[in-house]
Amino acid sequence: MLDLHVATSPEVKEAIEKGAVAVLAVGALEQHGAHLPLSTDSVMSHGVARRVCEAIDGLLLPPIVYGDAWNNEGFAGTLSLSPDTLRAILLDLGHGLKRTGVRALVIVNGHFGNREPIALAARMLKQEVGFPVMHLDYPGMERIAEKICDSKPAAPTFYHADEVETSMMLALAPELVRMDKAAPEYPVFPEIFGMAPIGLDSFNKSGVFGDPTSATAKKGETLIAGIVEESVRLIGIFLA
Ligand SMILES: [Zn+2]
Repeated sequence: MLDLHVATSPEVKEAIEKGAVAVLAVGALEQHGAHLPLSTDSVMSHGVARRVCEAIDGLLLPPIVYGDAWNNEGFAGTLSLSPDTLRAILLDLGHGLKRTGVRALVIVNGHFGNREPIALAARMLKQEVGFPVMHLDYPGMERIAEKICDSKPAAPTFYHADEVETSMMLALAPELVRMDKAAPEYPVFPEIFGMAPIGLDSFNKSGVFGDPTSATAKKGETLIAGIVEESVRLIGIFLA
């Protein structure tokens, strides 16, 4: 694996000549309650991307640490990119990777709001310049969470500052977690959630969705290992 944050140009050239694939984490600067930092989605996605990269001997790109987090802008500290900006960044990076001879790009997405701009950028890079991009949203997470977590998610497949994310942060960056401030909140979702743009602060007080109090680093390690294993399997299919 080669980390482009510390690599030199000749090292990258050699890896590209051997057919290395680039791996890019896309996170967010977004509120995660009182116990997790704003960088949570960036730390988690880059942590997963690093392990995926180690497994496939890839090129680890520095992460994108902002994302499209408009629905958390009602909470202080959340700074969002527009979908157009995020898509434009991904297009620029994709064109650059293609120009420099990289075989393909794997995006490890850590934030729900990034899904649409990432999928559109991937489609455009494929259609316009024939550059292959795969985007992963923590495959396997739901299955593992259901098996090992003691608490229920606030809504199906909705993991935000809860037991899942807190466990993964305890595994990746325990020094950033304030467990003494972790407290549950199970907000009542508006009936038309997902059918109209609704800021999360209009029905959630703490920024927590679910119960982070039973989070442990061990659960986080299990989640990360399972997500990495499933990601590597899917990347194998993508590259075949
Ligand atoms: Zn998150």
